[in-house]
Amino acid sequence: MPELPEVETIARQLRARGVEGKTILSVKVGWAPTVTPFSAAAFSAAIEGTTIDRISRVGKWMMLSLGSGKTIMIHLRMSGSFSMEKGSHDRIVLKLSDGLTLYYRDTRKFGRWKLVDDPDVVLRGLGPDALTRRFTLNYFAAAMKKRHRMIKPLILDQAIVAGLGNIYADEALWESKIHPERRSDSLSDEELAKLFKAIKHVLKVGVKNRGTSLGAGKTNYRDVEGESGGHRAEVNAYGKSGTPCARCETILEKIVVAQRGTTFCPTCQSL
Ligand SMILES: [Zn+2]
Repeated sequence: MPELPEVETIARQLRARGVEGKTILSVKVGWAPTVTPFSAAAFSAAIEGTTIDRISRVGKWMMLSLGSGKTIMIHLRMSGSFSMEKGSHDRIVLKLSDGLTLYYRDTRKFGRWKLVDDPDVVLRGLGPDALTRRFTLNYFAAAMKKRHRMIKPLILDQAIVAGLGNIYADEALWESKIHPERRSDSLSDEELAKLFKAIKHVLKVGVKNRGTSLGAGKTNYRDVEGESGGHRAEVNAYGKSGTPCARCETILEKIVVAQRGTTFCPTCQSL
């Protein structure tokens, strides 16, 4: 499932491919629920003829700012991805000026494109993006201390901090040696500082490595160039239950925390 580093990678690659500044000549929507509440025809009519001025990202949302003043907000959910080459499971095809074609691919069909007048209708429900200066230690520590919930679902809560999903949450908790079921208000200032630093660190390294893909299946993350992301070799916890911890060699365990599969080291991350 694409998280902040994967969405950032896709946004950067689309900019590098020259998508910004191009005019949308025609639109084909192959799976109408992607553009709900618009019909496929109404969505196409609303964006045909306008330009894609800017591609940006907040949390796991990618945004196409259009010359018409409207914005397409894209959430890739489970398996959304982009390509400049035709493939199978292409749900939206944008023919652009200068001979470019943008294919939005989504095997599992949960991804959504929201056409909005004001991006704030979506963004105001989000906490600060984890890689911006708005996400500070003071803010994070205060948000954790005033709640009495398990730490893992809190750092996955996009209303508190935007960008983390299951992979990078497990990685940040492993790196800061915090058990995923610790209560947020039981964490010391030192632990909160470590976790804050780990969140920024795992996401930055993820971006640097062009994201993470953890399997060979067709629903796994692919970047715009069809590559699977270089971050897999650097993953220490997520998906590694049954293998030895890279720090202490204890066998990593998998549990379910707030309905999410969670891998941790029972020695380094004791409760
Ligand atoms: Zn360990």
